[in-house]
Amino acid sequence: LSINRWNAIVCKTDGRDLSSVQLGSTPEQIELRRTLVLMRFFAVSGNLIMVPFALLAVWQGIWIRFWILLLVICVITTLVVTAHVRQQTRLARVALALVLCLFALHLTVSGGQDGTGVYFAFTLIPMMIVIAGWRWGQILGGLYTLMLIAAILIDWPWLYPYTLEAVPRLIAATLFIVLLSLLIEWTHVQSYLAIKHTADVHRKNSLTDPLTGLMNRLGLERQLLKWEQTAQLATVALIDIDHFKAVNDRYGHDVGDRVLSTFAKVLRNNLKESDSVCRWGGEEFVLVMIGLTEAEALPIVDELRKLIASRRFQFDEHNIGLTFSAGLAAFNGESEFKRALKLADQRVYQAKSSGRNRVVSGDSGH
Ligand code: GH3
Ligand code: MG
Ligand code: MG
Repeated sequence: LSINRWNAIVCKTDGRDLSSVQLGSTPEQIELRRTLVLMRFFAVSGNLIMVPFALLAVWQGIWIRFWILLLVICVITTLVVTAHVRQQTRLARVALALVLCLFALHLTVSGGQDGTGVYFAFTLIPMMIVIAGWRWGQILGGLYTLMLIAAILIDWPWLYPYTLEAVPRLIAATLFIVLLSLLIEWTHVQSYLAIKHTADVHRKNSLTDPLTGLMNRLGLERQLLKWEQTAQLATVALIDIDHFKAVNDRYGHDVGDRVLSTFAKVLRNNLKESDSVCRWGGEEFVLVMIGLTEAEALPIVDELRKLIASRRFQFDEHNIGLTFSAGLAAFNGESEFKRALKLADQRVYQAKSSGRNRVVSGDSGH
């Protein structure tokens, strides 16, 4: 603990990562569900269309078409099932979009069944871009258009014999559908980012105390839930500023607010990042020190007490001295937290009744 560190007060809570705290459905979860629905829709409808065509190819003895369709059916089904099982679409969506790109190209260039492949290719292009997402959608959309134009220009040997009138219409319609799909995907990304930003701000605000920038009671409860699985040892310290009402009465509520805000920064800046510092309410603060026993936490909180008691809080012409009383209690895992806090509260009461400006733990009263 150092006075220098205290003088250079930076509110570290601003940078704290609360993004993993879950409050209902997050935009990320909604986006995942959307992508999975799209992939599922494509897998089901695509297979429903491709299976009859594969059977038709067998009946007509066009084995190359049968094997291509079978390969596409297997790859698409595998990718979509994997994405559902892993609840992760990052790689699967790009791979699926690449398969769609190549398959649409094959349908257009070969003409598919009697030159009708191009109809299906036009339904695959928006699907490909929406599933790929904005960045990969641009790459694959561009790649598709260039490869189609190249196949027509170099008169690819397997190119379906489109009429002279059909070729420019085919290129124009392809360009139009690619650009339109990209525009739709771009606007989707823009609204997703706006919603995500708003959700992030609201989530952070709901877990943060506006006066001090520390996490509030809800923030601490969410944080504790994250430790639930580990159920490791921790010590809670309940800190209550002594005679704070007198500060308000003497210097006014505004000065009281500024004292609370500075007090919070002193706590935050003189504890480890891994320690949770929370404004529990009013002039009461809760520290949670993970992995520390009461005996290990006691000197840390007592150092804080000495630091606060030795400092003056300077605002305008006011020079204010402050002390606090604290109670400690150890606990194992989130389920024991409430019981430990109650014990810590009783120890604060002991600290107050034995003269204030002291820290009381199970072993000793300072
Ligand atoms: P003790 O040593 O027994 O804890 O005395 P105390 O005066 O600190 O305790 P008490 O509970 O009587 O008073 C707490 C005071 O804290 C009363 C209330 O006005 C003040 N307070 C609570 N929240 C805020 C706040 O957000 N801003 C300001 N300025 N004061 C606050
Ligand atoms: Mg109090
Ligand atoms: Mg008090």
